[in-house]
Amino acid sequence: MTIVFKVSEPTQKKMINYYDHKKREKNPPYSIFQADEADTIITLYQSGKVMFQGISADIDANMWKEIEKKSGHLIEDQQKKESKEKTTSHPFIYETTIGSDEVGTGDYFGPIVVTASYVPKSKIAELKELGVTDSKKLNDEKIMEIGPKLIASVEHCTFILDNMNYNKYQPLGYNMNQMKAILHNKVLLEMKHKNKTYNQIVVDQFEPPKSYFNHLIKAKEVVRDITFITKAESICSSVAVSSCISRYIFLKKMNELSIALGMTLQKGAGELVDNQALTIIKKYGFSKLTEIAKLNFKNTEKIKSHLN
Ligand code: MG
Repeated sequence: MTIVFKVSEPTQKKMINYYDHKKREKNPPYSIFQADEADTIITLYQSGKVMFQGISADIDANMWKEIEKKSGHLIEDQQKKESKEKTTSHPFIYETTIGSDEVGTGDYFGPIVVTASYVPKSKIAELKELGVTDSKKLNDEKIMEIGPKLIASVEHCTFILDNMNYNKYQPLGYNMNQMKAILHNKVLLEMKHKNKTYNQIVVDQFEPPKSYFNHLIKAKEVVRDITFITKAESICSSVAVSSCISRYIFLKKMNELSIALGMTLQKGAGELVDNQALTIIKKYGFSKLTEIAKLNFKNTEKIKSHLN
C-alpha cells in the first residue's frame, strides 16, 4: 500500500521530531528524511509531500492526517485531492527497481508483448537523458531509435504472445486482465530468478491488486512483493524501459506482419482496422485473421457482419 499527501510546514516539523530516532542513514534525493516504523516506510519530500509505503501504511498516514486536520490545515476537499494525488502524482521513484509493462492489448492486429526490466538507481539519470518515458508519449520514430539501445544496455526479459497462441488461450476463458496478470508474473519471475538486489518491484496497475493475484491462483509461483502504481510508466524508470522495449518489439512484429501481407497493418481497433481486415479476408480468407488478429475483440463481429 502506498499513500501520498501533502502536509503543512508545522506538521512537517512535528514529523521530523517524531521520526527522529527511526530515520534511515541515507535519504533518497529530494527528501528531508526516510524512516522505518514497524513495516511502514515513511518518506518526507522537500515539496512537503509525504509517502507512506507498506502493508499497514494507512495507520501512520491516518495519524498524520488527524494531526494535520487538528492544526486546521486540511481544506474541505482535501480528501478528494488526496485520492487524485494517489493516482496521478506519485513522486518519481529514485530507487533500484524491477518494473514490467505490456503493449498490444488495445490493438486488434499484432501480438501482446510484455517486458520486465532491471534498472539500478545509478542508471536512472542516463535513461532520462536518452528520453525514456511512457512509450505512449513517444512516437514510433523515437521508439525505433531508443529501442535497440535499451535492449543492449538494460537487463530485461521479454515475452511475446503471438496471435495464434492468444486465440488458442482466450477461448479457454482467459479474459484480457487475466492474460496480462499471467504474462506480467511470467517475466517478473524470470527477472527475479536472476537474483538481483532491488528496492521495489513496480507494476503499472491495470486492476486492483486483489484481482491481479486472484488471476494467478493456479500459478505455480507468484511474485508477490509488488508495488502497483497507476501510470507507473511516467514515474518508474524500469516500467518506462519495459514500456519502450515492449513497444519496440511490437512495432518490429507489426512490420514483419505488414511485409508478409503486402500492406501496412493499422494499429488500434478502429474503423480503419475493420476495413483493412475485410481486405485481408478477401485476399487470404477468414482464417488468416487467426494468425494476425485478436479474435475476441468486438471488431471480429463487426467484420463478420460486413461479410454477409
Ligand atoms: Mg501499461
